[in-house]
Order: sequence, then structure tokens, then C-alpha cells
Amino acid sequence: MKRPVLKTELFRDPVIIESIDLLKYKRNYLCRVRSRGGAEGIAFVNSQMDRLYPFFLKDIKPYFIGKDARNLEALLEGVYVHESNYKLQSVALWVPVSTIEFAILDLLGRIANKSMGQLVGEIHHPEIHLYQANSERGITPEETIDQLHEQLEKSQARAIKFKIGGRMNAPEVPKGRTERLIPLVRETFGDNMVICADANGSYDVAEAIRVGKIMEEYRYEFYEEPVPFDWYEETKQVSDALQIPIAGGEQEPSMRNFRWLLGNDALQVVQADMCYFGGLIRSMRVARMAKVLGKVHTPHVSNIGYVYTLHFVSAIPNAGPYHELKTPFNDDMEFECKTSTLLPEKGRVKVPTGPGLGIDFDPAFVAKHRIIDV
Ligand SMILES: [Mg+2]
Repeated sequence: MKRPVLKTELFRDPVIIESIDLLKYKRNYLCRVRSRGGAEGIAFVNSQMDRLYPFFLKDIKPYFIGKDARNLEALLEGVYVHESNYKLQSVALWVPVSTIEFAILDLLGRIANKSMGQLVGEIHHPEIHLYQANSERGITPEETIDQLHEQLEKSQARAIKFKIGGRMNAPEVPKGRTERLIPLVRETFGDNMVICADANGSYDVAEAIRVGKIMEEYRYEFYEEPVPFDWYEETKQVSDALQIPIAGGEQEPSMRNFRWLLGNDALQVVQADMCYFGGLIRSMRVARMAKVLGKVHTPHVSNIGYVYTLHFVSAIPNAGPYHELKTPFNDDMEFECKTSTLLPEKGRVKVPTGPGLGIDFDPAFVAKHRIIDV
């Protein structure tokens, strides 16, 4: 876990961070980092920034100014304790930090002519197989099946994930949906479809185990967040009682907690989110812990995190077989990706191979944005 992730040997000279700008146009944000030598990196910004930007501008951004981007790994450790930022550990801290990491990796990738994945690992997966996620609750099993049919027609994915339970202990609507839906999805899409279900912490231990046994009967691939995400011991109890792999970690902000969840075999599929966990470098450490234990990393994807997830997954040996599909990807943004459509073709998407993120923003689009200040 402590082995360096970022390939600093690619950079002979210091890359001093001269400016970090948070840009806004209508409801969209971008983050732009410039080095003293004139290099530039731009990042998409997670929608959570809308409520976090004062903290980003006052306590996160200034820490990075004047520092050498080659020390990014140490800076990620440093910003955590700087000004007691650790007190905000969660989305509040890690979305701002990951935003800067994404922009810095784009900048470094452009200097070294390497993709983001190449900066943090070896490329194991130039193409990524996607699973079709359906996020609707509160509809009948038949309506869920109709939606999945429609979605699969477009994506041609060979794997599915859908929602069960009522989310974070809330009662399920309509009642009995989960028990009818689990067999129905298998019967509808057949034996060759890879099927996963996400409970978003709907159950207590006993109910989680009962539902998990139904999923096992219908040969489901994994079972996500059976109990609330921070019920660590209960997650392990569910995991111990079932054969089906338990997935989790999308809300997890703490490296130490991932260490516990993996080390105690509470999770078999780990799902650190690029935006919510602070970026590719920290997530790589989680993937390494999982790899040592023979487990897979299937990141959770929050909105613009999709493109960063593609690069991350490309660079880990222990990626799960299918990954979350988040498309259409930012239709209202103006950019060009020369090496990938970013869309699934026959259920697969090609990882961009250009330098950095592999995406060039239209300069006229960037120019429409104004710099946000506190
Ligand atoms: Mg989930």
C-alpha cells in the first residue's frame, strides 16, 4: 500500500503549480491548473462542488499553490492534515481534493505524453466492459424489466445492476418488489446475463441474509451494500453468512476503514469512488490491498467520475469484469476525445489513450466560464 503510485521518474524538472482556478458557466464547473512552465490541465468537476466550493477555495486550493506537482502523493497526505481538513473527511474533503488531483494528472500527462492510467499504473484493460445500471426504486418489477430492456437495447451490455429494498432502512415501495424482481430478472434475461443488485443499506443483518439467499438461488454475481454502509461489523456478519460476494465502499472516505473491510473479509468486491475517495492515487492503494487478498475493485461512479474511472480501471490488474455505465456523458459540455467515443459499443467502451485525461475542452467553451472566488 505504501509503494509509490505516481511515476515521478517521468519528470526530470520540477512542475511548480502556479495557479488553480475553479471555473463556472451556468451550472457547470471546471478546474484548471497551470504550472510555472506554462503547462495546463483541466478537470471535470463533480456536482457536489456546488455546495463545497467555499471550502475548496479557502482551505484546499491554497495548499497546492507553489508546490511541485511531482510530489502529488505527499501533497494528498499533507492536505488531509492541513488546517485540520481531516475534520471534514468524506465527500466534503475528498471531492475538492480529487478535483485538483484530476487536473494535476491531466497536466502531468500532457507534459509526459502519457495517459492518466499510465501515470499511476500499467495498462491492463484498454477496453472496459460495462454493466447496465438501473437506479429506479418505487416502480413495479415489471416496470423495472421494461426499463432494463430499453437500456440494454442501447448499451448492449452483458451485465445488469438494479436497485432492491427501500434505501437506508426505508420501507420498500411497492411492497414485495424485491422478492418478485430477483427471480424475474433472471428469468427474463436468461442464464448468460451477469446480474448484480444494490440494496443501498436497506436491511438489518437478518433481512440482508434472507434476501441474499434468494440472490444466491438465482446465481447473482454480487450483492451491494446489504446493510447501511458504516455498519462494518454487520457487513461482515452478512458476508460470513452468504456465499455471494458482498460489494461496498462507495461512501467510504477512510483508507483505514477499507483496510478493515478488506482485511476482515467483510467485502469481496471493493468500490472506492474516484471523486468521493480523493482520486486515482488513493484508490490505487485500495486496489492494491484488494489484490493482495484476491479481491476485485469495481469503482462506484458518481456523475463525471465516469471518465476518471475508465482510466483507473484501465490501470488495475484486479478490476472486476464489468463496470458502471454512466452515459450519456455530459451532453452539455463541449469537448473532443480523439481516441474514444466514451460510449459503449457492444457493451464495451474504449479508454482514451491521449495524454492526461485524453479529452480536449473547446477553448471557446472554457472561455465562457468565469473564475469563482471567495
Ligand atoms: Mg451503490
